[in-house]
Formats: sequence, C-alpha cells, structure tokens
Amino acid sequence: MAAEEIKPVIDGSKIPPLNGENKNFIELDIDKDLQDGVYDHVHTRFPPEPNGYLHIGHAKSILLNYGIAKEYGGQFNLRFDDTNPTKEKSEFVDAIIDNVKWLCPEYDGKIYYASDYFDKMYEIAVKIIKKGHAYVSDLSAEEIKEYRGTLTEPGKNDPNRDRSIEENLDLFERMKNGEFKDGEKTLRAKIDMASSNINMRDPIIYRVAHLTHQHTGDKWCIYPMYDFAHPIEDGIEGITHSLCTLEFEDHRPLYDWVVREAEFPVPPRQIEFAKLYLNNVVTGKRYIKKLVEQKIVDGWDDPRLVSISGLRRRGFTPESIKKFVDMAGVSKSQSINDYAALEYCIREDLKPTAPRMLAVLDPIKLIIDNYPEGQVEMIDAPNNLENPDLGSRQVPFSRELYIERDDFMAEPVPKYKRLYPGNEVRLMYAYFVKATSFETDENGKVTVVHCTYDPETKSGSGFTGRKVKGTIHWVEATTAKTFTVRLYENIIDEEKGVYDPETGELNLNPHSIEIVKAFCEPSLADAKPFDRFQFIRNGFFCVDCKDSKDGEPVFNRIVSLKSSFKLPAKKN
Ligand code: ATP
Ligand code: MG
Repeated sequence: MAAEEIKPVIDGSKIPPLNGENKNFIELDIDKDLQDGVYDHVHTRFPPEPNGYLHIGHAKSILLNYGIAKEYGGQFNLRFDDTNPTKEKSEFVDAIIDNVKWLCPEYDGKIYYASDYFDKMYEIAVKIIKKGHAYVSDLSAEEIKEYRGTLTEPGKNDPNRDRSIEENLDLFERMKNGEFKDGEKTLRAKIDMASSNINMRDPIIYRVAHLTHQHTGDKWCIYPMYDFAHPIEDGIEGITHSLCTLEFEDHRPLYDWVVREAEFPVPPRQIEFAKLYLNNVVTGKRYIKKLVEQKIVDGWDDPRLVSISGLRRRGFTPESIKKFVDMAGVSKSQSINDYAALEYCIREDLKPTAPRMLAVLDPIKLIIDNYPEGQVEMIDAPNNLENPDLGSRQVPFSRELYIERDDFMAEPVPKYKRLYPGNEVRLMYAYFVKATSFETDENGKVTVVHCTYDPETKSGSGFTGRKVKGTIHWVEATTAKTFTVRLYENIIDEEKGVYDPETGELNLNPHSIEIVKAFCEPSLADAKPFDRFQFIRNGFFCVDCKDSKDGEPVFNRIVSLKSSFKLPAKKN
C-alpha cells in the first residue's frame, strides 16, 4: 500500500507497522482497522459460560485474545457470559479465573459479569422496541420453529409482527414484571422472515424464565438470548475485536444488527477463527462430566484430561501450552492437531529447565562386591548438563544400589550396550562396573546382579584408560526413598477412536494409569507441588498438587523422553 493511501490514525504510538510479516489474519485485520482509523486501540475479551471446566481449546482462545491485547498495548477482559441461569456453578467460575491467571501471568485479575448488564440490556431492548424494530410474540417455541421456514423456504410472518409500539412496550414491561408464564411470550427482533440467513428471521432476543440467577437472584424473570446479549456485553465494555470460533460466522449479521440498533459510539467487530481440535482426545463437557461422576477420573483436574486444570496438574507449563497453540496457528480452516505436538512443546520447555534426578521405577538390586561394606560416599551430580546454571547436588553412593530391570540382561540381545555378564558400563556420575553374576527367584526372574567396580574410573577424575559403551542410572539402596509414581496413557483407546459410533460412549483405555513405587534419590523428598523434574531415562515428572504430602511427594509422569513427533516443515 502506498504511504499516501494510509489515513491518519488517532494514536500512532500503539500501532505496529502494516508489514504483514508473520502475522495471522486476525492481526492483519486489526492492523488495517487501526490504519483506517476504525479504532484507535485494541480491546479483546474471553467470554466463557461458567458451565464446565476449560480445556486446551479454550486455552487457544484465551491466549489469542490475551496475546493480541498485549501485542497492541491494549486491554483484555475476562468476562463470564452468565446470562443463562440454569447451569452455572461457582466452582466453575473459580476454576476459570484460576486457569486464566495461570495462563496469563500479567493479567490484571479484573473480572466482568454479563449479568451486571441486565439493566442495560433491558434498556436497549426498550430502545429497539421504540424504534419499531422488535415486537412481543405470543407464539410458542414450537410455533416459532414452524414459522421459521427452512434453508430452502422462507419463513412466515409472526401474527404479532405488526403490534403497535405502545402495545409492545406494555407487554415487554409486563413480561419483566412476571405477568406471564415461561414460554408464554417472547421478544423478537423484527428483521426479515425471508432472509437467506435463518439467524436473521426475527430471532428471539428475550424469553420469560422464572429462574433464580446466581448473581442477580430473583430480580429478573426474563433473560436475554445469547445472540442479543453477547454483542451488547462487548459494546458496553468497549471491546473492539470480538474474537470467536467459526460456528458464529452465520450469526455475525445478527451481531452487527444488534450493535447498530444499540447505537454504540464505537461498535465492536466480530472476527471468527477455527477451533483447536486434538486427535483422539476427549474434550466434550458432557463426556468429561460423566467420567467425573462415574469416578473413572479423579475430578475435572485428573492429569489424564486436557482440561486446563488437568494439564496443569499433570505438569504442563503455561509456556508449553502457549508454544503449542502458536504452533497450531490461527486460521479460518478447521484442522486437527496431534497430542504428540503438545508433548513436544513440554519436552522442549523442560529439557533445559528441569533438574535431572535419579529414580528407578522398576528396580533390581546391584551389589558391587569389591566396594567397602558400610561405606557411603557422596557424589557430585550436575543438575542439568545442558544448563550449568542449575548447579549440582550430592547424591549418596555405596555397595548396594538399585538399577532399572531393563538395564540388565542375563542374555543380551544384539547391540545391547547396557549391563550383562562380563560387560562393563558406567554408573552415571560414578564408576565403571562390570557384571560378574546374578541371582534369580524361583520363577527365573533376576533379583540381584553382582558386579565389581574400578576405583580408577570415577567420573571427573580424568580417567582415560578405556571406554565403555553404556551408561546407566542408579539409586543408592539404603538411603533411597520410595515414592508413588503415576504413569499415564491416553484415557481413550487410540486404536478404536474416541467414541463408539453405535453406543455413543467413549472408548476407554483400561491401562490409562499405572501406579508404581519408585526408588528415588533422597533429595526428592523435598519436592513441592508443581515442582518438575526429569527422571533420567524415564521422562519428565511433576509433583501432584492434590495427593502429595510434606516429605512424601507423588509424581505424575508428564511425558516420556522418547518422541516420534516431527516438527512440521516451515511454510514459506
Ligand atoms: P459450550 O458447548 O458449552 O458452548 P464452549 O466450549 O463453546 O462450550 P464457551 O464457554 O462458550 O464454551 O467458550 C468460551 C470461548 O472459548 C468461546 O469464545 C469459544 O468460541 C471458545 N472456544 C471454545 N472451544 C474452543 C476450541 N476448541 N478452540 C478454540 N476456542 C474455543
Ligand atoms: Mg459456547
């Protein structure tokens, strides 16, 4: 665009250059609005209905709205869309506030409630009636549906469509005063019963419902419909860009009709984007509710769920979720993302930041026959070789250790580099050991491996005499702490897909949780809820915030270390 075509803007300091580089279509639209002087600032909102816990899809919406406000030096509102009094619960309100604060650490914490605007909404409805653009209908819900027509046939006019303004004002007031039963009257917008967009065929904007609202109590017995309430909420708060998901695209003409009729000085604008979907993952509120009620999961924050609370409890970081959402991108076309991409993001986040600890999940004993009995040596173990800033710690080492069962093979398979009779490996941070013999139980299962060590080979001693191919981790046996470790798999049976097409029930994976007692190095006793670690070779783990006690952490595996995920090729 040539410079002279750009209209002056009101506050140029907040406006990023219109270069389009790496910007999504929403940012490009906003840039244009700012350049054209439609708005002089940016104000977004996240408007959840408090009728359930938020999930990873909502995280996309939160981070998108919040991120845009931040990018443009604008404002972001968390607003509860609590216009529907039947299914809302304060438990959900609290969890949502918590989730938003967690994902957006700089969010100022101010909270808005749509129900605070009921008076204003009523006033606007009256204003629209006075203009002759809304009327009270006596039709039942059934009849309204019948009159609406279909995609191929126009609708029929409501018999009450031409009621006088005076009569409409009187009836609407009486609706408010509780003179009518539920369903007896509605207020309809007078738009166009022949519109090709069914949403524009005189939609209901107020209904009678004698219900107690959790915020406004029994003050109201009429409640606004979503399509009427939402644009007004945006308008009242001075929202500029009302970002929502694609299913509202067909409702946009109605959104625009309402903001026009309400005569907001700076009308908000709706922009739609595609929802985030995860392959083979359950997100539906209805299904999660059932899992919770049937106690198949441990609440809405069960670490196997992709609710934001579940992801947090599992050990995901806000940064990893942001990275994932950024990778998924913002677009107008629907796509499905792999859970493996989310796992990739948390691994990338934790690799340089999580201390790497010694823990053995499936132990066998290793006895170093030539190591002095009764001696415990403290060994210096770096916390993270990729990140020297994390320092080091002392771990005990002695004659008796635990190692992972799969780090020893009585009869090694080809290319096996770990411990087997006659083979020498390094015990991480410590010495070379060579397996000499082993003991088995009555079933032939290995219980103890015997070995000898070479005192010359201590890590950090500068020993260069010979090399070994394998390094294994270990935990000193007498000081080891046993802690509960939970290993997770998808709660859905991936072979079968999320739902059974016949019954509509979820296909559950019976092995979605495995609980083991792990032997851990003693310093892990100090771990606090939400602390995250790498357990060497076994994955990244997070201290459970619900089930851990002081000195007795319970660890959730966030993700294993192995990945089959490949970063998608960069688009040019
Ligand atoms: P319901 O089915 O009960 O309406 P909902 O998931 O749409 O549930 P809302 O509380 O209405 O829940 O959603 C709040 C906001 O989150 C809306 O702006 C909605 O468009 C957005 N949102 C919901 N699901 C997703 C998703 N999968 N991806 C991105 N945004 C989403
Ligand atoms: Mg919704």
